[in-house]
Amino acid sequence: MDSIAIEKACRFCPRCGHQADVDGCVPFRCSNCGFANFYGPVAAVGGLVINEQRELLLVRRAREPGKGKWGLPGGFVDRDETIEQALSREVLEETNLRVRHARYLTSFPNLYEYGGVVAPVIDLFYVCQVADQGEIRLTDGELDSFSWLTPTQRHLQEMAFASNRQAIEKWLREEMNP
Ligand SMILES: [Zn+2]
Repeated sequence: MDSIAIEKACRFCPRCGHQADVDGCVPFRCSNCGFANFYGPVAAVGGLVINEQRELLLVRRAREPGKGKWGLPGGFVDRDETIEQALSREVLEETNLRVRHARYLTSFPNLYEYGGVVAPVIDLFYVCQVADQGEIRLTDGELDSFSWLTPTQRHLQEMAFASNRQAIEKWLREEMNP
C-alpha cells in the first residue's frame, strides 16, 4: 500500500463519524458536528552532542524509517513535558548520556511516516554537552552503532532525515565561523 498524507487518511470525523465533505482538507472541519483537526505539526527534538574534541555524535538507526542510516539522538516531545525535558529524556534513553548543557541551534520541518501514514513534524535542534561522554549505551533495537566524528559530505549524504543534515550543516558553518 502506498503511503498517504494524514489528512488524506482521515476520511471520517473521529467525533461523529460523518464523512468528510472535502477529501484531504487541512484543517479537517466536520460540517455535521463542528469538530476540527489541525494535524500538527508534532514537535520533535534532536541533539547535536559534542565531545571535548568538538566531535559530533552520530547514531546509526537499526529500524525504519532510515534503517542503516545516520541520525541524531532525539524523538517526539511527550505531552506535558518541555522541549528541554524531551531532549534530555530522549538523549538519555537512546544513548545513556546525561545532557548537562543545551543551546538552541535551529529548527526544520520534517515528515514522519508510520504505518503508511505521513504526518508533519517540526524538528527542534540543540547543541548539547554531556556529563560523561564515555558512558554511551545505545537502546537495543533502535540504534546499532555510534561514532564521534567531524561530519564529511559522505556522512551528510547518509543521514536518515534531511532536517538532521540541515541542522548539522548549520552547526558546521558556526564551527568554521565562530
Ligand atoms: Zn463530526
